[in-house]
Amino acid sequence: MQTAVIIVAAGRGSRMGGEVPKQWQLLAGKPVIAHTLAAFAGMRVVLVIHPEDRARAEGLGVPLVEGGATRDASVLAGLEALEGSGVEAVLIHDGARPLVSPTLVGRLMAALEQHEGAAPALPVADALWRGASGLVAGTVDRAGLWRAQTPQAFRFAPILAAHRAHPGGALDDVEVARAAGLDVAIVEGEESNLKLTYPGDFARAEAILKGRKMDVRLGNGYDVHAFCEGDHVWLCGVKVPHSRGLLGHSDADVGMHALTDAIYGALAEGDIGRHFPPSDPQWKGAASHIFLSHAIGLAAERGYRLSNCDVTLVCERPKIGPHAIEMQTELARIMGVDAGRVSVKATTSERLGFTGREEGIAALATATLVTA
Ligand code: MG
Repeated sequence: MQTAVIIVAAGRGSRMGGEVPKQWQLLAGKPVIAHTLAAFAGMRVVLVIHPEDRARAEGLGVPLVEGGATRDASVLAGLEALEGSGVEAVLIHDGARPLVSPTLVGRLMAALEQHEGAAPALPVADALWRGASGLVAGTVDRAGLWRAQTPQAFRFAPILAAHRAHPGGALDDVEVARAAGLDVAIVEGEESNLKLTYPGDFARAEAILKGRKMDVRLGNGYDVHAFCEGDHVWLCGVKVPHSRGLLGHSDADVGMHALTDAIYGALAEGDIGRHFPPSDPQWKGAASHIFLSHAIGLAAERGYRLSNCDVTLVCERPKIGPHAIEMQTELARIMGVDAGRVSVKATTSERLGFTGREEGIAALATATLVTA
């Protein structure tokens, strides 16, 4: 399903205090809303803002929509902005819930296959009281009670129709959906997906951010190309003069192919052939930086960045040493990382085997991805 995310950040947050609305206050060094956006990296996002916050929001690099006087009106403005864009499903999320995880989004999207709506919630574990004048005035049965969270996921057309028809004053989008007769599945929420409401919530959120374990993913790649007639080879993005060329469907950049496969490997995303099938004529003679850019882009979409990579070229000739720094620089440029995170080195195979007989070049690569 073509999915978009509407992040509602138009509220003024009167319970939080402070001069700046809570979604624009700093959490672990960056605005709350920047954390929230990062949680949906790689997805299509519309950010609904208060007109007064336009200057703050413009640097975030996402489409902005001005909200209305109420939460309902703001959500409707976001939905209207997406109408006719081909979006089939929408996640509606409070900007002040910055710690939502990709796993929760995955659970919602799975539930949306079966239902018109799906929303996260946690069962109430504490006893519930009614209070009056500082005294307990009664207890409330907590059986069947849930604490609702966002994002709340819906099929696009029914939730747009539901919002257009609703008279206003709903607490959340599930209330709007149910008023229109939509079925909404309860999906297991997350204790860490807290809504920043009171000043103390910032300290809790920062503690959760600090405690989040970094995910480290390692991948390897291996590639071989045979020599053919020619006067140069492409290796790690650098044109190296040689008495032979390398045979291949693309530019036959064996080093860049091994590195690209290492990144796909770290993501458990197959190899170049899966993403750029050799049977497709549009990749014939393609420059290999297209493959590497795609792999690193996919990593970013999944919330990963390259920590380091190491490429080893195996050949007797051409000599790699004089070009290694340029190769490092070029790979780093393509991937948008520091050259200090990229290693290119070479070895001969002591005249043994196909590389030793100078029938072709082999390359091995390792890439480490870490959570961005
Ligand atoms: Mg190859």
